Amino acid sequence: MGGPTAIVSALHEELAAVLALMPDEQAQVVGGRTFWRGHLHGHDVVAVLSGIGKVAAATTATALIERFGVQRIVFTGVAGGLSPGVNVGDVVVARHFLQHDMDASPLFVRHVVPGYGRATFDAHAALTAHLVRVSEDVLRSLPAQWPDEVRNAFGLHAPRCHQGLLISGDRFVSTTAESEALRQELPDALAVEMEGAAFAQVCHDYRVALAVVRTISDRADDVAHVDFPRFLREVASRYSGAIVETLLNE
Ligand code: SAH
Repeated sequence: MGGPTAIVSALHEELAAVLALMPDEQAQVVGGRTFWRGHLHGHDVVAVLSGIGKVAAATTATALIERFGVQRIVFTGVAGGLSPGVNVGDVVVARHFLQHDMDASPLFVRHVVPGYGRATFDAHAALTAHLVRVSEDVLRSLPAQWPDEVRNAFGLHAPRCHQGLLISGDRFVSTTAESEALRQELPDALAVEMEGAAFAQVCHDYRVALAVVRTISDRADDVAHVDFPRFLREVASRYSGAIVETLLNE
């Protein structure tokens, strides 16, 4: 497959570890966003911060495809765990995506994206299978290297890799009532974030491969904001760096 691979995150801390691995990156600004073009383990790569939310995600995906000709997009970031067994420090790899705040009812069934006749979009099967393998490897080795203090602070004891439905919306879900409502409405949803399903819709339009991995930073409940910055810095950014490095090193 020709064309570079895009590595995308929503937040600065998540991308820092990836940029640190790129020896020769050149910055280019498109649509007010900085795209870092360069190499990572010999692969042609474009790294970019999407910013937060579905619109920022969609414009970033479109620019990556139209301006940089990317053929594959790998998104790494954090998300709130929804499913009962999806805990802080676990990793979720998306197989499918859904916009939980899409609601054109009664004209369309709740969550169906008008014009597409569907509510869910799929991740690229082969790229995603590869990302699952790599994430499982990283989870086996990385957490053991953390100081006890970090491990205890976040209760990172036996982190697991889950695969399935990831849901996105323009809302940081930070109350137990909201996450409970999402669990009732979408019982298959493993985790909630703010960008993945927007990337999936654009990648569907352009037939570009997408894979998304999210480290669980919170349980999308009343304490979701507590220690979020510290978790990003000390845990999530290291997962992102290690996963992307391993993925591109094979
Ligand atoms: N406090 C942060 C804002 C984070 S917004 C700041 O100061 O910048 C949350 C980001 O993390 C989004 O990119 C989203 O995709 C992801 N995320 C993590 N937990 C989430 C949750 N509980 N609900 C929605 N998005 C969440």
